[in-house]
Amino acid sequence: MPTSANHAYKTLLQILVDNLRAKGITDKRVLEAIRQVPRHAFMDERYIGFAYQDDAFPIAAGQTISQPYTVAFQTQLLDIQKDDKVLEIGTGSGYQCAVLLEITPSVFSIERQKTLYDSAAKRLKELGYSPHLRYGDGHEGWPEEAPFDKILITAAAHEIPPRLLEQLKTGGKLVMPVGGAYTQKMTLVEKISNSESIFSEHGGFVFVPLLKGKV
Ligand code: SAH
Repeated sequence: MPTSANHAYKTLLQILVDNLRAKGITDKRVLEAIRQVPRHAFMDERYIGFAYQDDAFPIAAGQTISQPYTVAFQTQLLDIQKDDKVLEIGTGSGYQCAVLLEITPSVFSIERQKTLYDSAAKRLKELGYSPHLRYGDGHEGWPEEAPFDKILITAAAHEIPPRLLEQLKTGGKLVMPVGGAYTQKMTLVEKISNSESIFSEHGGFVFVPLLKGKV
């Protein structure tokens, strides 16, 4: 990329980060991670000019790239540490995955749509990221790699898939939008023992649904 274009998007990233800080994102690691990821590389061509706007946009296969505020909010709730092993459900564009990878190298992400899985894998590799990606149904989690310190679900359902809770470490955290099609409550689960978890709700959001099976 020519230096002037490079400079322009770095400036836009700084403005985006300032905007997120003004909206209440305080975790320095999260803000720094957002500052590092060229969001335009994850956008559908039609919306590339809006990449540094704090909004969700359509990507392929009827899905969306999450709003930066939502990405920052979920990441902040999880309090990701630099050596955490993290599982993401819903790779989508790969943007949230890249933000996680700016904080910890140990990121596992599952996508049920083959076209999105393929394009995210290619894009993340080209940008120099090394995630562990799987094409599959996130309801099953990734048992061979469990347990995880943190689990982040970027699609909504009425309840937290039990297999994901099973794959969370004791002392670990999971975040997921829980609710119906039109609005969900961002729900944080802190697993305090094998049989006990603390649930808390953190405001209303709108996500695409967590669906069964692979396509
Ligand atoms: N994290 C993404 C947001 C993508 S939207 C980003 O940063 O761009 C949610 C994604 O979840 C969609 O790509 C959708 O296909 C995927 N999804 C829905 N149900 C799923 C399931 N059961 N397993 C894995 N992925 C799923």
